[in-house]
Amino acid sequence: MKLFSISKAVHVPKFKEAEHFSTIIDVEAPKNMVYSLSQQHNMKCSPTVKRNDRVLVNQIIGVGENNSVVPVYASVSGTVKQVTTKVDLMGNKVDVILIENDFLYEKEEREAFDYSALTFDELREKIKALGLIETQNLSNRKRGMQLSFKDDVKNVLINAQESGLYGQVDSYLYENEREDFLRGLGLVRSLYKNANITVLSTSDADSVIGFTELLKNTDVKLISKIPTQFYHDMNLASRDVFGDFAMKYTMVVDAFLLPAVARGLLDNRLTHYQLLLVNGGAVKNPGIYKVMSGTTLNYVMEAAGVEDPFRVVAGNILSGDAVFAMDAPINRGIREVLFLNENEVNKEEEMNCIKCGRCADVCPVGLQPYELNALVINRDFDEFFKNRGGMCVECGRCSYVCPSKRHLLQSFKTAKKVKR
Ligand code: SF4
Ligand code: SF4
Repeated sequence: MKLFSISKAVHVPKFKEAEHFSTIIDVEAPKNMVYSLSQQHNMKCSPTVKRNDRVLVNQIIGVGENNSVVPVYASVSGTVKQVTTKVDLMGNKVDVILIENDFLYEKEEREAFDYSALTFDELREKIKALGLIETQNLSNRKRGMQLSFKDDVKNVLINAQESGLYGQVDSYLYENEREDFLRGLGLVRSLYKNANITVLSTSDADSVIGFTELLKNTDVKLISKIPTQFYHDMNLASRDVFGDFAMKYTMVVDAFLLPAVARGLLDNRLTHYQLLLVNGGAVKNPGIYKVMSGTTLNYVMEAAGVEDPFRVVAGNILSGDAVFAMDAPINRGIREVLFLNENEVNKEEEMNCIKCGRCADVCPVGLQPYELNALVINRDFDEFFKNRGGMCVECGRCSYVCPSKRHLLQSFKTAKKVKR
Protein backbone atom coordinates (compact mmCIF):
# COMPACT_ATOMS: atom_id res chain seq x y z
CA MET A 1 0.00 0.00 0.00
CA LYS A 2 1.24 3.46 -0.89
CA LEU A 3 2.53 5.62 1.93
CA PHE A 4 2.27 9.37 1.94
CA SER A 5 3.83 12.18 3.88
CA ILE A 6 2.46 13.91 6.93
CA SER A 7 3.66 17.35 7.94
CA LYS A 8 5.98 17.34 10.93
CA ALA A 9 5.36 19.06 14.22
CA VAL A 10 7.77 20.89 16.49
CA HIS A 11 8.39 18.95 19.69
CA VAL A 12 8.17 21.79 22.19
CA PRO A 13 10.24 21.80 25.40
CA LYS A 14 9.01 19.61 28.23
CA PHE A 15 9.25 20.50 31.90
CA LYS A 16 9.34 24.21 31.14
CA GLU A 17 7.68 26.16 33.92
CA ALA A 18 4.73 28.45 33.30
CA GLU A 19 5.86 32.01 33.93
CA HIS A 20 3.86 34.82 35.48
CA PHE A 21 3.75 38.23 33.93
CA SER A 22 2.09 41.03 35.81
CA THR A 23 2.35 43.82 33.28
CA ILE A 24 0.58 44.06 29.98
CA ILE A 25 2.57 45.38 27.06
CA ASP A 26 0.54 47.44 24.61
CA VAL A 27 1.49 46.97 20.98
CA GLU A 28 0.65 50.00 18.91
CA ALA A 29 -1.16 49.09 15.67
CA PRO A 30 1.24 49.15 12.70
CA LYS A 31 0.81 51.09 9.47
CA ASN A 32 -0.09 48.04 7.40
CA MET A 33 -3.00 46.12 8.83
CA VAL A 34 -4.17 42.75 7.50
CA TYR A 35 -7.68 41.48 8.25
CA SER A 36 -8.47 37.86 7.49
CA LEU A 37 -11.96 37.09 6.21
CA SER A 38 -11.64 33.39 7.00
CA GLN A 39 -13.38 31.97 10.01
CA GLN A 40 -13.88 28.71 11.81
CA HIS A 41 -14.74 25.47 10.00
CA ASN A 42 -13.50 26.83 6.66
CA MET A 43 -16.22 29.45 6.43
CA LYS A 44 -15.51 32.99 5.42
CA CYS A 45 -16.86 36.52 5.09
CA SER A 46 -17.34 38.54 1.94
CA PRO A 47 -15.66 41.95 1.81
CA THR A 48 -17.92 45.00 2.10
CA VAL A 49 -15.16 47.43 1.08
CA LYS A 50 -13.01 47.84 -2.02
CA ARG A 51 -9.63 49.28 -2.93
CA ASN A 52 -9.16 52.98 -2.03
CA ASP A 53 -12.24 53.10 0.24
CA ARG A 54 -11.74 55.06 3.43
CA VAL A 55 -12.64 53.05 6.53
CA LEU A 56 -13.27 54.02 10.13
CA VAL A 57 -12.75 52.22 13.43
CA ASN A 58 -15.87 50.06 14.11
CA GLN A 59 -16.76 49.86 10.43
CA ILE A 60 -17.79 46.44 9.13
CA ILE A 61 -15.39 45.36 6.39
CA GLY A 62 -16.55 41.75 6.00
CA VAL A 63 -19.90 40.00 6.43
CA GLY A 64 -20.97 36.39 6.23
CA GLU A 65 -24.29 34.86 5.32
CA ASN A 66 -23.78 31.68 7.28
CA ASN A 67 -25.09 31.79 10.84
CA SER A 68 -21.75 30.79 12.35
CA VAL A 69 -19.81 33.58 10.68
CA VAL A 70 -19.38 36.90 12.47
CA PRO A 71 -18.68 40.31 10.92
CA VAL A 72 -15.11 41.56 10.62
CA TYR A 73 -14.51 45.13 11.80
CA ALA A 74 -11.76 47.65 11.08
CA SER A 75 -9.81 48.38 14.26
CA VAL A 76 -8.13 51.48 12.76
CA SER A 77 -9.13 54.25 10.39
CA GLY A 78 -7.37 54.45 7.04
CA THR A 79 -7.52 53.41 3.39
CA VAL A 80 -8.17 50.01 1.87
CA LYS A 81 -5.06 49.15 -0.15
CA GLN A 82 -6.14 45.78 -1.45
CA VAL A 83 -8.67 42.97 -1.16
CA THR A 84 -6.63 39.90 -1.97
CA THR A 85 -5.49 36.44 -0.85
CA LYS A 86 -2.53 35.68 1.38
CA VAL A 87 -1.31 32.74 3.42
CA ASP A 88 -2.27 32.63 7.07
CA LEU A 89 0.01 31.67 9.96
CA MET A 90 -0.31 28.00 9.12
CA GLY A 91 0.20 28.41 5.39
CA ASN A 92 -3.45 28.16 4.30
CA LYS A 93 -4.64 30.55 1.61
CA VAL A 94 -7.14 33.04 3.00
CA ASP A 95 -8.96 36.14 1.73
CA VAL A 96 -7.71 39.31 3.39
CA ILE A 97 -8.27 43.05 3.39
CA LEU A 98 -5.16 45.22 3.61
CA ILE A 99 -5.71 48.62 5.25
CA GLU A 100 -3.20 51.43 5.57
CA ASN A 101 -3.57 52.85 9.06
CA ASP A 102 -3.75 56.69 9.14
CA PHE A 103 -3.31 56.71 12.96
CA LEU A 104 -6.28 59.11 13.33
CA TYR A 105 -8.56 56.42 14.82
CA GLU A 106 -11.70 58.13 13.58
CA LYS A 107 -14.72 56.15 14.61
CA GLU A 108 -17.99 55.13 13.06
CA GLU A 109 -20.74 55.79 15.60
CA ARG A 110 -22.70 52.76 16.68
CA GLU A 111 -26.46 52.74 16.91
CA ALA A 112 -27.61 52.80 20.55
CA PHE A 113 -29.78 50.02 21.96
CA ASP A 114 -31.12 48.88 25.32
CA TYR A 115 -30.05 45.29 25.87
CA SER A 116 -32.63 44.75 28.63
CA ALA A 117 -35.47 45.29 26.13
CA LEU A 118 -34.20 42.56 23.78
CA THR A 119 -35.49 39.00 23.44
CA PHE A 120 -33.09 36.03 23.70
CA ASP A 121 -32.91 35.74 19.90
CA GLU A 122 -32.23 39.43 19.47
CA LEU A 123 -29.52 39.24 22.14
CA ARG A 124 -27.90 36.34 20.37
CA GLU A 125 -27.79 38.40 17.19
CA LYS A 126 -26.30 41.35 19.09
CA ILE A 127 -23.57 39.13 20.53
CA LYS A 128 -22.83 37.69 17.12
CA ALA A 129 -22.61 41.24 15.77
CA LEU A 130 -19.77 41.96 18.23
CA GLY A 131 -17.52 39.89 15.96
CA LEU A 132 -16.07 37.90 18.84
CA ILE A 133 -16.38 34.28 17.82
CA GLU A 134 -12.97 32.93 17.05
CA THR A 135 -11.81 33.67 13.53
CA GLN A 136 -9.90 31.18 11.38
CA ASN A 137 -8.58 28.67 13.81
CA LEU A 138 -5.41 26.68 13.82
CA SER A 139 -7.19 23.43 14.21
CA ASN A 140 -10.67 22.15 14.60
CA ARG A 141 -11.21 23.98 17.86
CA LYS A 142 -14.53 24.83 19.35
CA ARG A 143 -14.59 27.95 21.35
CA GLY A 144 -16.38 31.20 21.72
CA MET A 145 -19.39 32.91 23.10
CA GLN A 146 -21.76 30.54 21.42
CA LEU A 147 -24.80 31.21 23.52
CA SER A 148 -27.14 28.30 23.20
CA PHE A 149 -29.80 30.41 24.89
CA LYS A 150 -31.84 27.38 25.74
CA ASP A 151 -34.35 28.23 28.42
CA ASP A 152 -33.45 25.13 30.40
CA VAL A 153 -29.68 25.66 30.71
CA LYS A 154 -28.75 24.30 34.14
CA ASN A 155 -25.05 25.05 34.11
CA VAL A 156 -23.02 27.88 32.70
CA LEU A 157 -19.30 27.19 32.57
CA ILE A 158 -17.08 30.24 32.21
CA ASN A 159 -13.93 28.65 30.83
CA ALA A 160 -10.69 30.39 31.82
CA GLN A 161 -8.70 27.15 31.69
CA GLU A 162 -6.94 27.64 28.41
CA SER A 163 -4.61 30.26 29.67
CA GLY A 164 -1.28 29.37 28.10
CA LEU A 165 1.13 26.49 28.60
CA TYR A 166 4.30 28.45 29.36
CA GLY A 167 2.64 31.38 31.07
CA GLN A 168 -0.73 32.37 32.44
CA VAL A 169 -2.82 34.93 30.60
CA ASP A 170 -5.77 34.63 32.96
CA SER A 171 -4.28 37.10 35.48
CA TYR A 172 -5.45 39.74 33.01
CA LEU A 173 -9.05 38.80 33.81
CA TYR A 174 -8.81 39.19 37.57
CA GLU A 175 -6.35 42.06 37.55
CA ASN A 176 -6.99 44.24 34.48
CA GLU A 177 -10.52 43.35 33.39
CA ARG A 178 -12.07 42.84 36.84
CA GLU A 179 -14.98 45.18 36.44
CA ASP A 180 -16.02 44.07 32.96
CA PHE A 181 -15.54 40.41 33.88
CA LEU A 182 -17.90 40.86 36.85
CA ARG A 183 -20.35 42.81 34.69
CA GLY A 184 -20.24 39.91 32.23
CA LEU A 185 -21.04 37.47 35.04
CA GLY A 186 -23.94 39.72 36.09
CA LEU A 187 -25.21 39.63 32.52
CA VAL A 188 -25.07 35.83 32.45
CA ARG A 189 -26.89 35.69 35.80
CA SER A 190 -29.64 38.00 34.52
CA LEU A 191 -30.15 35.68 31.54
CA TYR A 192 -29.96 32.40 33.47
CA LYS A 193 -31.50 33.13 36.83
CA ASN A 194 -31.52 29.56 38.12
CA ALA A 195 -28.36 28.14 36.53
CA ASN A 196 -25.20 27.11 38.39
CA ILE A 197 -22.57 29.49 37.14
CA THR A 198 -19.04 28.16 37.50
CA VAL A 199 -15.67 29.59 36.54
CA LEU A 200 -13.16 26.95 35.44
CA SER A 201 -9.59 28.07 36.08
CA THR A 202 -6.22 26.33 36.07
CA SER A 203 -5.01 24.94 39.40
CA ASP A 204 -2.06 27.32 39.34
CA ALA A 205 -1.92 28.91 42.83
CA ASP A 206 -1.99 32.49 41.54
CA SER A 207 -5.03 31.78 39.38
CA VAL A 208 -6.91 30.14 42.26
CA ILE A 209 -6.16 33.06 44.59
CA GLY A 210 -6.95 35.64 41.90
CA PHE A 211 -10.31 34.16 40.93
CA THR A 212 -11.32 33.36 44.53
CA GLU A 213 -10.83 36.98 45.46
CA LEU A 214 -12.60 38.20 42.31
CA LEU A 215 -15.67 36.02 42.88
CA LYS A 216 -15.95 36.51 46.65
CA ASN A 217 -19.14 38.63 46.55
CA THR A 218 -20.90 36.63 43.86
CA ASP A 219 -22.81 33.34 43.79
CA VAL A 220 -20.41 32.03 41.14
CA LYS A 221 -18.43 28.89 42.00
CA LEU A 222 -14.81 28.29 41.13
CA ILE A 223 -13.45 24.95 39.94
CA SER A 224 -9.74 24.62 39.24
CA LYS A 225 -8.07 21.89 37.22
CA ILE A 226 -4.52 21.07 36.22
CA PRO A 227 -3.58 23.18 33.19
CA THR A 228 -4.20 21.20 30.05
CA GLN A 229 -4.94 21.93 26.48
CA PHE A 230 -8.08 19.99 25.84
CA TYR A 231 -10.57 22.26 27.55
CA HIS A 232 -10.70 24.32 24.38
CA ASP A 233 -13.21 21.66 23.39
CA MET A 234 -16.44 22.77 24.99
CA ASN A 235 -17.88 19.24 25.16
CA LEU A 236 -14.89 18.01 27.15
CA ALA A 237 -14.98 20.97 29.51
CA SER A 238 -18.69 20.38 30.07
CA ARG A 239 -18.14 16.61 30.56
CA ASP A 240 -15.30 17.02 33.05
CA VAL A 241 -16.97 19.62 35.23
CA PHE A 242 -20.65 18.66 35.06
CA GLY A 243 -20.62 15.15 33.57
CA ASP A 244 -22.65 16.54 30.66
CA PHE A 245 -20.81 15.28 27.58
CA ALA A 246 -23.44 16.27 25.04
CA MET A 247 -23.76 19.75 26.56
CA LYS A 248 -27.46 19.09 26.97
CA TYR A 249 -27.80 21.30 30.00
CA THR A 250 -24.54 23.20 29.90
CA MET A 251 -23.48 26.33 28.11
CA VAL A 252 -19.74 26.99 27.90
CA VAL A 253 -18.53 30.56 27.57
CA ASP A 254 -14.95 31.57 26.81
CA ALA A 255 -13.94 33.62 29.86
CA PHE A 256 -11.60 35.71 27.75
CA LEU A 257 -14.51 36.95 25.65
CA LEU A 258 -16.84 37.70 28.56
CA PRO A 259 -15.53 41.24 29.35
CA ALA A 260 -15.85 42.12 25.65
CA VAL A 261 -19.43 40.85 25.61
CA ALA A 262 -20.19 42.99 28.69
CA ARG A 263 -18.77 46.09 27.01
CA GLY A 264 -20.61 45.27 23.79
CA LEU A 265 -24.03 44.77 25.34
CA LEU A 266 -23.92 47.16 28.27
CA ASP A 267 -21.90 50.04 26.76
CA ASN A 268 -22.34 49.32 23.03
CA ARG A 269 -18.53 49.24 22.64
CA LEU A 270 -16.58 46.90 20.40
CA THR A 271 -13.33 45.30 21.59
CA HIS A 272 -10.68 45.38 18.90
CA TYR A 273 -7.77 43.83 20.79
CA GLN A 274 -6.71 40.42 22.00
CA LEU A 275 -4.13 39.18 24.48
CA LEU A 276 -1.15 37.20 23.38
CA LEU A 277 1.37 35.42 25.57
CA VAL A 278 4.76 35.75 23.91
CA ASN A 279 7.46 33.49 25.29
CA GLY A 280 10.39 31.24 24.39
CA GLY A 281 14.18 31.37 24.39
CA ALA A 282 14.42 33.68 21.35
CA VAL A 283 12.33 36.42 23.00
CA LYS A 284 14.11 39.30 24.73
CA ASN A 285 10.94 40.70 26.36
CA PRO A 286 8.57 37.83 27.06
CA GLY A 287 5.18 38.77 28.46
CA ILE A 288 1.51 39.35 27.80
CA TYR A 289 1.00 41.57 24.77
CA LYS A 290 -2.18 43.45 23.99
CA VAL A 291 -2.52 43.34 20.23
CA MET A 292 -4.98 45.14 17.94
CA SER A 293 -6.86 42.91 15.50
CA GLY A 294 -5.31 43.14 12.04
CA THR A 295 -1.76 43.17 13.45
CA THR A 296 0.64 40.74 11.81
CA LEU A 297 2.93 38.43 13.78
CA ASN A 298 6.18 39.98 12.51
CA TYR A 299 5.17 43.26 14.13
CA VAL A 300 4.72 41.56 17.51
CA MET A 301 8.11 39.87 17.03
CA GLU A 302 9.68 43.26 16.62
CA ALA A 303 7.90 44.66 19.67
CA ALA A 304 9.00 41.68 21.79
CA GLY A 305 12.63 41.84 20.63
CA VAL A 306 12.58 38.38 19.05
CA GLU A 307 15.91 37.46 17.52
CA ASP A 308 16.50 34.70 15.05
CA PRO A 309 13.96 32.12 16.24
CA PHE A 310 14.69 28.55 15.24
CA ARG A 311 11.01 27.57 15.28
CA VAL A 312 7.78 29.44 16.00
CA VAL A 313 4.76 27.66 17.43
CA ALA A 314 1.36 29.30 17.85
CA GLY A 315 -2.07 28.42 19.15
CA ASN A 316 -2.27 24.95 20.66
CA ILE A 317 1.31 24.62 21.85
CA LEU A 318 1.22 20.87 22.54
CA SER A 319 0.22 20.19 18.96
CA GLY A 320 3.44 21.93 17.93
CA ASP A 321 2.15 23.37 14.68
CA ALA A 322 4.97 25.46 13.27
CA VAL A 323 4.10 28.93 12.03
CA PHE A 324 4.48 29.19 8.28
CA ALA A 325 4.16 32.92 7.54
CA MET A 326 5.24 35.69 9.91
CA ASP A 327 3.54 38.45 7.94
CA ALA A 328 0.12 36.87 8.49
CA PRO A 329 -2.47 38.37 10.86
CA ILE A 330 -2.78 36.87 14.35
CA ASN A 331 -5.90 34.78 14.55
CA ARG A 332 -8.32 35.84 17.24
CA GLY A 333 -8.29 32.45 18.92
CA ILE A 334 -4.53 32.41 19.53
CA ARG A 335 -3.46 33.03 23.13
CA GLU A 336 0.16 31.95 23.00
CA VAL A 337 3.11 32.17 20.62
CA LEU A 338 6.47 30.56 21.34
CA PHE A 339 9.62 31.74 19.63
CA LEU A 340 12.02 28.90 20.30
CA ASN A 341 15.77 28.94 19.93
CA GLU A 342 17.67 25.97 18.57
CA ASN A 343 18.49 24.48 21.99
CA GLU A 344 14.85 24.34 23.00
CA VAL A 345 13.65 22.30 20.05
CA ASN A 346 13.90 18.56 20.22
CA LYS A 347 15.41 17.53 16.91
CA GLU A 348 15.13 13.78 17.30
CA GLU A 349 13.74 12.05 14.25
CA GLU A 350 10.49 10.13 14.35
CA MET A 351 11.15 6.53 15.41
CA ASN A 352 9.12 3.35 15.27
CA CYS A 353 6.19 3.04 17.62
CA ILE A 354 7.15 0.89 20.59
CA LYS A 355 3.52 0.29 21.55
CA CYS A 356 4.04 1.75 25.00
CA GLY A 357 0.45 2.96 25.10
CA ARG A 358 1.27 6.36 26.58
CA CYS A 359 -0.61 8.14 23.82
CA ALA A 360 -3.76 6.15 24.63
CA ASP A 361 -3.33 6.85 28.36
CA VAL A 362 -3.46 10.61 27.89
CA CYS A 363 -6.11 10.87 25.18
CA PRO A 364 -9.07 12.75 26.73
CA VAL A 365 -11.56 11.08 24.38
CA GLY A 366 -10.28 7.52 24.83
CA LEU A 367 -8.78 6.99 21.38
CA GLN A 368 -5.92 4.63 20.48
CA PRO A 369 -3.62 7.13 18.71
CA TYR A 370 -0.95 4.58 17.68
CA GLU A 371 -3.57 2.45 15.90
CA LEU A 372 -5.18 5.45 14.25
CA ASN A 373 -1.79 6.65 13.09
CA ALA A 374 -1.05 3.30 11.45
CA LEU A 375 -4.38 3.52 9.61
CA VAL A 376 -3.61 7.01 8.33
CA ILE A 377 -0.12 6.00 7.16
CA ASN A 378 -1.75 3.21 5.18
CA ARG A 379 -4.39 5.60 3.87
CA ASP A 380 -7.18 3.52 5.35
CA PHE A 381 -9.39 6.50 6.10
CA ASP A 382 -12.61 4.49 6.31
CA GLU A 383 -11.14 2.46 9.17
CA PHE A 384 -9.74 5.65 10.72
CA PHE A 385 -13.24 7.08 10.97
CA LYS A 386 -14.77 3.74 11.99
CA ASN A 387 -12.30 3.76 14.90
CA ARG A 388 -13.61 7.19 15.94
CA GLY A 389 -10.66 9.13 14.53
CA GLY A 390 -13.08 11.95 13.78
CA MET A 391 -13.57 12.39 17.55
CA CYS A 392 -9.99 13.62 18.00
CA VAL A 393 -10.19 17.09 19.55
CA GLU A 394 -6.65 17.93 18.35
CA CYS A 395 -5.28 18.61 21.82
CA GLY A 396 -1.81 17.28 20.94
CA ARG A 397 -1.30 15.37 24.20
CA CYS A 398 -0.51 12.12 22.38
CA SER A 399 2.24 13.73 20.27
CA TYR A 400 3.64 15.49 23.32
CA VAL A 401 4.09 12.34 25.42
CA CYS A 402 5.20 9.98 22.65
CA PRO A 403 8.77 8.76 23.37
CA SER A 404 9.20 7.86 19.69
CA LYS A 405 8.34 11.42 18.61
CA ARG A 406 5.56 10.24 16.34
CA HIS A 407 3.72 13.07 14.62
CA LEU A 408 0.39 11.70 15.72
CA LEU A 409 -1.79 14.79 15.75
CA GLN A 410 -0.49 15.96 12.38
CA SER A 411 -1.44 12.57 11.00
CA PHE A 412 -5.02 12.89 12.31
CA LYS A 413 -5.38 16.38 10.94
CA THR A 414 -4.27 15.10 7.55
CA ALA A 415 -6.87 12.31 7.68
CA LYS A 416 -9.64 14.74 8.54
CA LYS A 417 -8.67 17.04 5.69
CA VAL A 418 -8.59 14.16 3.20
CA LYS A 419 -12.07 13.17 4.28
CA ARG A 420 -13.40 16.71 3.83
S1 SF4 B 1 3.16 6.91 22.68
FE1 SF4 B 1 4.23 6.76 20.72
S2 SF4 B 1 5.50 4.95 20.91
FE2 SF4 B 1 3.99 4.84 22.56
S3 SF4 B 1 2.26 3.67 21.67
FE3 SF4 B 1 1.82 5.80 21.27
S4 SF4 B 1 2.66 6.17 19.22
FE4 SF4 B 1 3.60 4.30 19.97
S1 SF4 C 1 -5.80 11.47 19.55
FE1 SF4 C 1 -4.19 12.79 20.40
S2 SF4 C 1 -4.70 14.83 19.70
FE2 SF4 C 1 -6.51 13.57 19.39
S3 SF4 C 1 -7.75 13.87 21.23
FE3 SF4 C 1 -6.49 12.05 21.58
S4 SF4 C 1 -4.63 12.82 22.61
FE4 SF4 C 1 -5.68 14.59 21.71
